[in-house]
Amino acid sequence: MIESKEILLKSRPKGPPRPEDFAIVTRELSEPADGEFLIRNIWMSVDPYMRGRMRAGKSYVAPFELGEPLQGGAVGEVMHSRHPDFEEGQLVLHDKGWREFLLSDGAGVTRLPPTGAPSELYLGLLGMPGMTAYFGLFDVGALQDGDTVFVSGAAGAVGSTVCQLAKIKSCRVVASCGSDEKAKWLTQDIGVDAVINYRDCEDLGAALAAAAPDGVDVFFDNVGGEHLEAALLNMRQFGRIVECGMISEYNLTGEPPVIRYLINTIIKQLKIEGFIVGRYQARWPEAMKVMMEWYHQGLLNSRSTVYEGIERAPEAMIGLFEGHNTGKMLVNLCSQSNLGIEVEFI
Ligand code: NDP
Repeated sequence: MIESKEILLKSRPKGPPRPEDFAIVTRELSEPADGEFLIRNIWMSVDPYMRGRMRAGKSYVAPFELGEPLQGGAVGEVMHSRHPDFEEGQLVLHDKGWREFLLSDGAGVTRLPPTGAPSELYLGLLGMPGMTAYFGLFDVGALQDGDTVFVSGAAGAVGSTVCQLAKIKSCRVVASCGSDEKAKWLTQDIGVDAVINYRDCEDLGAALAAAAPDGVDVFFDNVGGEHLEAALLNMRQFGRIVECGMISEYNLTGEPPVIRYLINTIIKQLKIEGFIVGRYQARWPEAMKVMMEWYHQGLLNSRSTVYEGIERAPEAMIGLFEGHNTGKMLVNLCSQSNLGIEVEFI
């Protein structure tokens, strides 16, 4: 028998998630039977879309069940295997985070390729957030070399990747984020051309006009609300607005805000398109190949904010909505793991 701590959803949050919406329990797992193997989770991903799954009702992913462990991207190590395709010591990627151990028959589990990249990058830069940035910017946003790009939520996992991809394509990048410390990282390490700290800004539209005096070709939106309005005021003719996320609305309890200035979609002949990264699943290998090349050439920088211990996973989730992460928000479940990237422990 193995004891595994797991995080359950105790109640559906009303407004921002609170510690009391989660519970931690210990479950006993039996030894693997024939055709099964045991995974010890090392890293788990904490993502804004999980907030949507805490609501009852249909969305593009099924809701979490009350009293059941939460789920989400995780990297783990095979500890004990009675499965022909998974040997002990193998690092794997799967979608059953929020628990220390997982007994698996292999469904939904993939082996991490031996690329030399730190395993946690498969939850960030080289994982779902990286793919979101890649397809959102190049496919949905139809980025052209030299475009002016405005990125909201720019210091997060998706946003910081978008900024770097746009810089690789010789674009001028204007980034928005929520603190001076994040602004410094975006300027010094990520290489953006201008930053707006939206928390310290009375008029986002005017600040964007000053940072992008000739207008914006592509707006990559992770936030919605005032950021979308500011972009609508500053887009160039035939600009593209990529609706990736609207995190400013995820914890709302009342009616969503009215978005003004939509008339600019006509006046400036804009294209505005929302997308879900799963649409591009079949093309992930193509994007991974390119991203891996850029990573090995040193063109892609990555940073993570790491909460240590499964007990702190709810705190990490709550922290996403308070801007506590710079780069990817992760929970480290196993302190012996090899940390290969720049991390900030909390
Ligand atoms: P991030 O790493 O960007 O983390 C969330 C960040 O959002 C926080 O650090 C905070 O940064 C910012 N934020 C939180 N609340 C607010 C608010 N009320 N107003 C403005 N900013 C806020 O998360 P991800 O990179 O994982 O995700 C970014 C966006 O992309 C999310 O909206 C997510 O839902 C979306 N997404 C969409 C996908 C798709 O397929 N369409 C796939 C993956 C993600 P700060 O301090 O700067 O405010």
